[in-house]
Amino acid sequence: MKRRSFFALGGACALCGCAGAVHQLPQINDNNLSLAQSEVKASGGPPARRELTDEQVNDIMASALARIRPTAQQMCGEMNVGVCNWNITSSQSRAMNAGAGSNGLIYVNRGLVEYTANEEEVCMAFGHEIGHQAANHIANNQTNQRTGALIGAVLGAAVGVATSSTYLPQSLITSMTSTGARAGGSVGRISFSKSQEREADYLSAVILYRSNVDLDKARGLLVTMARASDRKDTGLLDTHPAGPERLAAWDQAVAQIRASKGALPARA
Ligand SMILES: [Zn+2]
Repeated sequence: MKRRSFFALGGACALCGCAGAVHQLPQINDNNLSLAQSEVKASGGPPARRELTDEQVNDIMASALARIRPTAQQMCGEMNVGVCNWNITSSQSRAMNAGAGSNGLIYVNRGLVEYTANEEEVCMAFGHEIGHQAANHIANNQTNQRTGALIGAVLGAAVGVATSSTYLPQSLITSMTSTGARAGGSVGRISFSKSQEREADYLSAVILYRSNVDLDKARGLLVTMARASDRKDTGLLDTHPAGPERLAAWDQAVAQIRASKGALPARA
């Protein structure tokens, strides 16, 4: 079975020291998994990329971030285990990816935005990368730490890294070069464990719930990811499951989050 990355991050547990999640996460329910499998199978062919101008991409990213940032910041403080001072930026890469690195680096590729159907899906992507930072996944993985430091330096030197007070300036995307895209590709080699990936999705769902972002709309990104997981041209990396299993885990997470009115799960 092919394994693909979600957002640039993945890797076998054995390769990364089995770094775990901070929280206890729900088990995937067999019924949810088979529903997700049927849904992905019925969802048709590869997803379509929409044509967006630089300005539209910037606007969508800035708007998505503005919606979730206050609650993301609050959740990160509540967890009190990770990095809550983020350097959020964008990449000109057309690959359907996003990533997180050392020094609070979070980036979302223009390509990911082009494959989203709505702003809620972009919120989900940002929430996922914020989740990696909030749960301290980068520092908790030796491999990540080394790679992440390198990536941070490369991306910072190539395109400048937006500070938290100046995230996504209008000029950022247009100023990015092909070097930026290569840096994005390198970030893709950072390996998080499967449980860390699942935790990042869970935390994204918590952030979105608390921000009153429609979780059912945001979920569409995972369907698109699953549909795209066999397509080379979307830029997904061959490292991590992005298919029905992730969708089923999301559904489990959302059910639990709604039932608990947005509470964080118990610590692992
Ligand atoms: Zn991830």
